[in-house]
Amino acid sequence: MAFEHITEAINEMKEQGTFRKLVPLESAQGNEVTIDGKSLVQLSSNNYLGLANHPRLKQAAVEAVEQYGAGTGSVRTIAGTFEMHEAFERELAEFKHTEASLVFQSGFATNLGVLSALLGPEDVVISDALNHASIIDGIRLTKAARRIYKHVDLEDLEKALKETQDYRTRLVVTDGVFSMDGNIAPLPAIVELAEKYDAAVMVDDAHASGVLGKNGRGTVNHFGLDGRVALQVGTLSKAIGVLGGYVACSQDVRDYLIHKGRPFLFSTSHPPAVVAANREAIRVMKEEEELFDKLWANTEFFKNGLRDLGFDIGHATTPITPVMLGEETLAHTFSDKLKEHGVFAQSIAFPTVERGKARIRTIVTAEHTRDDLERALEAFKTVAEELNVTLHA
Ligand code: PMP
Repeated sequence: MAFEHITEAINEMKEQGTFRKLVPLESAQGNEVTIDGKSLVQLSSNNYLGLANHPRLKQAAVEAVEQYGAGTGSVRTIAGTFEMHEAFERELAEFKHTEASLVFQSGFATNLGVLSALLGPEDVVISDALNHASIIDGIRLTKAARRIYKHVDLEDLEKALKETQDYRTRLVVTDGVFSMDGNIAPLPAIVELAEKYDAAVMVDDAHASGVLGKNGRGTVNHFGLDGRVALQVGTLSKAIGVLGGYVACSQDVRDYLIHKGRPFLFSTSHPPAVVAANREAIRVMKEEEELFDKLWANTEFFKNGLRDLGFDIGHATTPITPVMLGEETLAHTFSDKLKEHGVFAQSIAFPTVERGKARIRTIVTAEHTRDDLERALEAFKTVAEELNVTLHA
């Protein structure tokens, strides 16, 4: 029977307790969300600055719909580039201190498009072992040779650079902030090594745009490396609050991707509401600096709270805080129980992270109040007691 293996796989997941249902929100995204009619503290979104439901973004989207309609009716390269698409790309490049930028439909599509278009069989891509799935898939689509270096291991990276000196272009690719552990890549050392061996660097700032750097300009700006990283990719769907991906790059790379970036070429452009809200988000990030103060104060408060309770929270130095639980089923049960105690914090398990490294991944945002975070900490404590999780306070 066709797809029998699919039914078997589903049954196996159900037996092992790893089958997960989607969880529909019944409210807007925010510090609290409604699920199953109940209000819960939201600790699982990537809405770092609270822009997903920000009045200025909503207003910009509504006005764009009124003036330009709901959809664009074409891909960018035929009839679907509106003036606002290009205006946004100029504004984004100015914000990122690069010559140009190009927006894709999502961050995932950006990595697929950039990696598959820019590298050929004469090239090699050198990638951190814990890079995001979209980088891995982008690498699968290139005809370039590939080397994976151990996670943030500079010696292994240097070895790879030494061994690949005969290739035309060598591209070192790293997440700026690693999405499951919340650690920041050692970018200054990576850039120095790349320069020593005449290689280029690509940084995926999905979790750093709107979080690190001045007004959320990202990892490159955070480390003072403006001008030394060839490709800054990122998403408009997390801190920026809307949808899309971008690459901030040279004018030549932008022009080339318009001709060769397949997800860009063959997929319809963003609707006006999306473009207008993305543009407004950048303005808000420039003008409402207090959002960043709030985000980092909440990050520190919540991390300290979890650490004081005795949870193992890894080595994250960003608003992402993993609460390490190990066993997959324990992580899932822990998450379910948190919900009963008023907190929405999803478990993350294999294959997203290694087996035995299951966790609750929390992300605080600028929108959380002290009361939200205190209630969340209380819930973590109660659930740990209920499930006999050993704490090291
Ligand atoms: N890169 C990284 C590092 C990510 O965490 C994500 C989001 N999961 C993406 C790319 C994809 O971004 P988007 O959700 O905009 O497709």
